[in-house]
Amino acid sequence: MKLVSFNDYQVGTIDGDHIVNITEAIPSGLDSMPQFRMNWLIEHWATAQAKVKDLQSSGTRINLSAVKLLTPVPKPPHVFAAPANYRKHIGELGSRSVSKGRSAREQGFFLKAPGSVTGPADAIELPHSGRRFDHESELAVIIGKHGRNIPRAEAFDYVFGYSCLIDATMRIEPGVAEEERSMRKSFLGFTPVGPYLVTKDEVPNPQELDNRLWVNDDLRQSANTRDMIVGIAELIELISSVLPIQPGDIIASGTPEGVGPITVGDTVKISIDGVGEMEIAVRRVPAASPWKF
Ligand code: MN
Repeated sequence: MKLVSFNDYQVGTIDGDHIVNITEAIPSGLDSMPQFRMNWLIEHWATAQAKVKDLQSSGTRINLSAVKLLTPVPKPPHVFAAPANYRKHIGELGSRSVSKGRSAREQGFFLKAPGSVTGPADAIELPHSGRRFDHESELAVIIGKHGRNIPRAEAFDYVFGYSCLIDATMRIEPGVAEEERSMRKSFLGFTPVGPYLVTKDEVPNPQELDNRLWVNDDLRQSANTRDMIVGIAELIELISSVLPIQPGDIIASGTPEGVGPITVGDTVKISIDGVGEMEIAVRRVPAASPWKF
């Protein structure tokens, strides 16, 4: 099933070029905080699924072109992120890792601010700055259940689904400005996630997916999730060993080679097999910030 958030945080499923409104499957108690509807649906999926399936035939159908798609999980409790996480392409450097000793296995994970997450209709908005900004093409893993100390063999029981995620970054300038990674990656709009969330039953092997990213028409990143250094299950084991994971948490599973610059006027397209495709514009943030970067 492909789940979306749209318009004023209504929830729907995708059926071809239509959305079916399934918001009724979520208690009206959440009408006063609709941005949390998807978190509720994910957490209560086991019991809510029957109602969702009923609504798929009886719910209001709306043409996709007539709605504003929001990011599927507008209020993720956490956005965990893995550092660069793919072995180089065979033919480039054999099976040598991207950056030895710098994967999540050695460095652990880092955090992106949940408030940086935006959707397919939003742009990556660069601050008024002469600094370089980069794209990273990543498979987003959406957590479905609460859990702590989850061994990797059980990790996929805690996965709800997948989405496409662009991890935008302000690059460090060694010796000049080497701010914390979490801050450089947490500008509003630096974590586009979407266009929808695909439930895990539709992605039988998440470690066998092509992950590609274009800037304008230029293919910049092309890899397969089988080449991840630290796989999804191991990432979940690591993160849940530090703190409890929660329904709606997002894991940015790390980028392959080919990270490169984005500038105002570019269009970034991410495509992950069976998970979706999303085009995001790069713009200048309208209002200059008082803090200069
Ligand atoms: Mn990244």
